[in-house]
Amino acid sequence: MSKIARRTFIKGTAAVTAGAFLHTSRDAAAQDMAKADPESQAAQALKYTHDASTVDPADIVNEAPDQSCANCMFIQGNEGDEWRPCPLFPAQVVAAAGWCNAWQPKP
Ligand code: SF4
Repeated sequence: MSKIARRTFIKGTAAVTAGAFLHTSRDAAAQDMAKADPESQAAQALKYTHDASTVDPADIVNEAPDQSCANCMFIQGNEGDEWRPCPLFPAQVVAAAGWCNAWQPKP
């Protein structure tokens, strides 16, 4: 293996290892976070619910169909996870099937 190829291999391996570590850390962090409480003052202000199918149509600000946290631009974490972080609920996770009136489509 040439010096350049070895250097490229080492850099690539380090990047993959770092990425895997960050991914694992993020997973663990999300799993350890408390679920957003729909009865909390913040959740009530945003009309957050764990179940988007229960939303009162009168509460919907953006008229786009099929809104849920899973397809909101603010959702974080891993696609497909049932509970994911959202910056509107710091240090908590929201239900992927949930919703609040700050919902915005992903760009
Ligand atoms: Fe869900 Fe988006 Fe509201 Fe966060 S901002 S709670 S992801 S709808």
